[in-house]
Amino acid sequence: MKERRFEPLKLDVQAFARAAGELTGTWPQADLRRLVSGPEAAHADGPADDVRWHARGETRARTAAEPETWLHLQAATKVWLICQRCLAPCELPLEVRRSFLFVADEAQAEQLDEDIEDDVLAMTRSLDLRELVEDELILAMPIVPRHEHCPQPLVQQRSAAPAPEEPKPNPFAVLETLRGRRSGKAP
Ligand SMILES: [Zn+2]
Repeated sequence: MKERRFEPLKLDVQAFARAAGELTGTWPQADLRRLVSGPEAAHADGPADDVRWHARGETRARTAAEPETWLHLQAATKVWLICQRCLAPCELPLEVRRSFLFVADEAQAEQLDEDIEDDVLAMTRSLDLRELVEDELILAMPIVPRHEHCPQPLVQQRSAAPAPEEPKPNPFAVLETLRGRRSGKAP
């Protein structure tokens, strides 16, 4: 039997789950407009990483009820953000791993979403996986992006200034000492 091909930008979720389908791929970050549209985008200090992703469908049998439809999603990339400590661009890893339960309609989704930890979405025959991945990556963004180790010393942090020079003997102090000795005063 020929395996059915699934279209990631128009995914028939139920068919994907019933087939225990798996999809994997990469998208250039430029295709995820909301992810790179912030003011940070202009401050990138290198090329944008691709978004690597994987999706898997699953149906879970239930007693005396329709089986549940699940979608398991993973995605990873690196994004350029402005470090809130040194204000230089920093590239930070983003990673998401989430499971979605698909139910008959929005009303049921809203009701269930409050009860269970996983996300609940309304069933669709045309799910845009890229949009879902983008949503999740945006949610995974750090609120206060920071380098693990900032590349340069911070201006406002005086204590981190370069080490003071070796103290040199002051020639005038040396002279004073000699004069003192000559005039009989204690040095
Ligand atoms: Zn920094």
